[in-house]
Amino acid sequence: MIINILDKGVSSLIAAGEVVERPVSIVKELIENSLDAGSKRVDVIVQDGGIQTIQVVDDGQGISSAQMALAFHRFATSKLQTVEGLDQIRTLGFRGEALASISAVSDTTMISRPVAQDIGTKIHLIEGDIVNITDQGSPLGTSITVSNLFANFPARRKFLRSPGAESSKIVNLCSKYALAYPDVAWNLTLGDKNKFITPGNGQLIDAFAGIYGVELSENMLPVKSYLNSDISVKGLISSPKISRSNRTNINIFVNGRWISSNLLNQAVAQAYHSLLKERRFPVCVIDIELKPSDVDVNVHPAKTEVRFLDPGAVFSTVQQSIRQTLLEESGIPAPQTYEGKNKKLTEAVLGSGAFWTSNLKSSTNRTTNIPESMIENLQLQAPGQFTHVKVLPLLRVLGQIQNTYIVNEGPDGLYVIDQHAAHERVLYEQVLSGINQSASQALLNSVVVELDSHLIDSIDSIKDLLADIGFIFEHFGDSSYILRGVPNAFHSSDPKDGFVDVVTNLLNENVDDRRDAASKTIACHAAIRAGQTLSLAEMQELIKLLEICKQPQTCAHGRPTVIHLNSNYLESQFGRR
Ligand code: ADP
Ligand code: MG
Repeated sequence: MIINILDKGVSSLIAAGEVVERPVSIVKELIENSLDAGSKRVDVIVQDGGIQTIQVVDDGQGISSAQMALAFHRFATSKLQTVEGLDQIRTLGFRGEALASISAVSDTTMISRPVAQDIGTKIHLIEGDIVNITDQGSPLGTSITVSNLFANFPARRKFLRSPGAESSKIVNLCSKYALAYPDVAWNLTLGDKNKFITPGNGQLIDAFAGIYGVELSENMLPVKSYLNSDISVKGLISSPKISRSNRTNINIFVNGRWISSNLLNQAVAQAYHSLLKERRFPVCVIDIELKPSDVDVNVHPAKTEVRFLDPGAVFSTVQQSIRQTLLEESGIPAPQTYEGKNKKLTEAVLGSGAFWTSNLKSSTNRTTNIPESMIENLQLQAPGQFTHVKVLPLLRVLGQIQNTYIVNEGPDGLYVIDQHAAHERVLYEQVLSGINQSASQALLNSVVVELDSHLIDSIDSIKDLLADIGFIFEHFGDSSYILRGVPNAFHSSDPKDGFVDVVTNLLNENVDDRRDAASKTIACHAAIRAGQTLSLAEMQELIKLLEICKQPQTCAHGRPTVIHLNSNYLESQFGRR
């Protein structure tokens, strides 16, 4: 066999083939360029499914006449300069391949004018070669027309589908971008038919209505963002009344880039679990924002697949945001809010301090979700009857939901425990009562902690208390301390953060009982978090510890640890009474 190096014409066609598979890939590259150029208006006009012509007109920043030819070189990009930059990419394009590839397989004309020029430039290329560059009067922005696709590439042309099929791919793609960029006014025309227009007013719901119609838009719910400081999830999801026979209308975007992801399709499916029939799918627009360095978009030349640094976190944030929205918004019956009927009785019960579920109303200005029917149930019995009720009944753990709540069966119905609040209560009482007092654990590697100057000034006043509750530390020059040991409760949390948290809280001028404040902060810091998966044994252990607390019904900050849905309530909600 003889090995040859392919000539430039062949190699660039092969390279072009990777980027330009079919008309829709060209549309994608061109509109991404328009978006990267900061356009507020993008018109896409397609003839014959894009096989004959694709035209994209934008009002973006344009290209100077000096750079017009350069834009069509392979690896010519204005968006990436260094390897380090690859980690911080916020633009949609960065490879500098698109224009080179597109022009290699078509007849391309581009007219562009940046604000600094009075007159625009027109460049015409056929199969990658520049035919001419001339001055041309033009509005601000860029207009590019691509025609005769794959005229020199019959193998590729053969694989194109009918104009109708290619068109529908283009409609699909443009819809996705219009949804991802509601602040851009989009206009898609196929042949002489307008397919959709969006207003570009920044409202996702209006862009959605432009594409899917007003009727469907009225059945969409805005996604409630589930708290995760590193990942934000926004968007619209269809109410469970609506469903489709396939996944095409599940639109997922990561940092403004449409992606296809089985993982996230799964997250959506799980969130709708039991709300839609088998093999039915929702309509949704999910916008995920995360740090560019937490996602790798450089996986596939067409860039519709991404790799996440922490796929589990993205999965659960998406799943939980959607689930939470559905549960809150879609009319699934939730316990009624107690509004003060039967006030007298409630006060009697609350006053007794014995029946822990009623004590959820521990602070008078907070409304709680004590079901009304439960209060009525109490009325049937003499309040005095509760005086000696064991504080927390014996509970049987059924499982964990949303990695946040422990669901239990008890003597009278369902008991839902907030794992963080419960653990916080347990630790708070332990630390306060001194169980852990002398118990400090030495750190394997001591850490240096920098404190703000205002903390340094007053840290002396709390030194003894800090030592007492288990911190072993010494001054290490200027604003630094060396931390060698932490309270036992901190066994699995970040020692540095914990130390700074405790010091900051103790030195807060509003604190009058410093030991109490320290115990609260330690408890809050060391308690298991919402979102943490627990084994059955761990849940049972936690509940056992909660049972022996003096005040199991609230966390150290007064929020409830338990909600109780008693059997009367369940029966009445299910119409059994
Ligand atoms: P990339 O987008 O990866 O940088 P392209 O080949 O798509 O590579 O484009 C090359 C360069 O041409 C871009 O970096 C940009 O500077 C310029 N360009 C392309 N299209 C437009 C446009 N619509 N408006 C302004 N500049 C553009
Ligand atoms: Mg590009």
